[in-house]
Amino acid sequence: MTLAARLSAIDERIADAARRAGRDPDEITRIVVTKFHPAQLVRDLHALGVRDVGENRQQEMTAKRAELQQSEGSGYDDLRWHFIGQAQTNKAGAIRRASDAVHSVDRIRLADALHRAADDDRVLDVLVQVNLTQDAGRGGTTLADSEALAEHVLGLGSLRLRGVMAVAPLDEEPAAAFARLRDVSDGIRRIAPEATWISAGMTGDFVEAIDAGATHLRIGSAITGPRPDRG
Ligand SMILES: *Cc1c(COP(=O)(O)O)cnc(C)c1O
Repeated sequence: MTLAARLSAIDERIADAARRAGRDPDEITRIVVTKFHPAQLVRDLHALGVRDVGENRQQEMTAKRAELQQSEGSGYDDLRWHFIGQAQTNKAGAIRRASDAVHSVDRIRLADALHRAADDDRVLDVLVQVNLTQDAGRGGTTLADSEALAEHVLGLGSLRLRGVMAVAPLDEEPAAAFARLRDVSDGIRRIAPEATWISAGMTGDFVEAIDAGATHLRIGSAITGPRPDRG
């Protein structure tokens, strides 16, 4: 299958799942995760109409953005780059410069660092990442701390709280995990009505995520094919 065929097959499955869940497919943003793939893949996706891409490593994202900016005829300014990886506090400035949205804000220190790194008037879209596993080593704040983190972000003028993000645990039905994320989202929207994004759902579980109300899907391999080795 070609890239175009894989993309349209996934988009059809997204639209079907949305309609089955009684939702409008247009309210769902499909982010194509391009991590580990060369910048050329982003060009090819852009030519197919993709405008939202996801990366999980700052250096790789910064390098790809720079490469596209230098492209002949450029025209990639309408791409939105979503940072979805674990973020080191000391990379906050570089992450901020390379991202249109940061999905992985999981601690107060990181939110503060992203805020302090602001060097112009741009307001950065951020999501609170919630850890749905029992393993504290995985990215994300605990369910119990998520509202306090959201409240903290609301106090930082250079950040705009957009919603919540999570990855489903490997050892649990995704529907049950996404239901917990939905509860966190409901709670946060009571203090921040505009924080409506729910970033959830990957290649293996985007249908369950759509059922649970996801607004932003992060889909990699089903569209891009297998990822090359990290090297
Ligand atoms: C890699 C990655 C994805 C995409 O995973 P696929 O299974 O290839 O669709 C989504 N979210 C995060 C946080 C990732 O790191």
